Amino acid sequence: MKPIIEVVAQLKTSKKIAITCHYRPDGDAIGSSLGLYHYLCLKGHEVMPITPNEVPDFLSFLPGFESLVNFEALPSKATEFIQAADYIFCLDYNNLSRVHALTPVLEAATQELILIDHHLQPSDVFTYGISDSSKSSTCEMVYDFIDAAGDAAIVNQHIATCIYTGMLTDTGSFRFPSTSARVHEIIMHLKNKGLQHHLVHEAVYDNWTLNRLQFMGFVLSQKMEVFPELHSGIIALSSEEMERFQLQNGDTEGLVNYPLSIQGIKFAALITEKEKEIRLSLRSKGNVDVNTLARKHFNGGGHFNAAGGKSNLTLTETITKLKEILNDLHELK
Ligand code: 5GP
Ligand code: MN
Repeated sequence: MKPIIEVVAQLKTSKKIAITCHYRPDGDAIGSSLGLYHYLCLKGHEVMPITPNEVPDFLSFLPGFESLVNFEALPSKATEFIQAADYIFCLDYNNLSRVHALTPVLEAATQELILIDHHLQPSDVFTYGISDSSKSSTCEMVYDFIDAAGDAAIVNQHIATCIYTGMLTDTGSFRFPSTSARVHEIIMHLKNKGLQHHLVHEAVYDNWTLNRLQFMGFVLSQKMEVFPELHSGIIALSSEEMERFQLQNGDTEGLVNYPLSIQGIKFAALITEKEKEIRLSLRSKGNVDVNTLARKHFNGGGHFNAAGGKSNLTLTETITKLKEILNDLHELK
């Protein structure tokens, strides 16, 4: 992959630029897409931020939210723009399989793909870019890109709000080890550009429906299984349970972290069944490598301490398989 700074020189004149992010986009995927969108617009480019599927409502406070084009809802609009684009940015994913229905469109693209991402083991389809798994978030890397381009001075409140949101959500509110001094330094700059961080926290964390909070009560009291000898906690939810609480997109977000707040727990899994698809969300502390676990056993991946994957087995079989894997993990002994 060639250094991303080489792209900066090519962006001196106005270009048509598509920005893409991963399926089921989160705060970092959307924060980085919209942060880069505002920056590139300021620089006089024609830009379209595209998501593979719908964006959770809690992110609708982000400036530029209405500019996002959902590929699932508007496939021709997104495809036509991508086909005519000069550049295609790929944010917060390391592999074209992560964009689901958009995969064939990007595979067919003749333009060079530009990666900005912090997941491990990026595939080799990206011509330019930066991949750094030590970074807290793709948002941090978008700020670094703007800074490296010599444009830190033109960062405005819109960009600041978007960048801050992804750094906030991907660091678990600045608690994970990835929260470097650089993260706090960037926030200092963002504050100087008018960032109102308390409004972002409220929009992200104090925006629950009563239903969601009651669902959480049900999950924590009835559905969380803790295995002290394996230092593990597992939450498994059937499609029937998810339907019973009429969950909205994003309502299971963050649930996986709760088992980790129990003394001695180093591994947590949230297993959800949606329309017969089983998804796993994995989190860990310390030296428990969930990226490898997800890659090896669940056709997934992610980061060392946060990863995800899928299973073709039933919910019960998936739980059994996971427990067997945990039993064999010496880091959990
Ligand atoms: P989450 O559990 O929040 O869905 O995902 C945790 C992390 O793992 C995220 O950084 C996400 O990008 C990554 N991840 C989630 N699911 C998958 C997957 O199926 N494949 C890969 N390669 N990464 C995933
Ligand atoms: Mn991210």
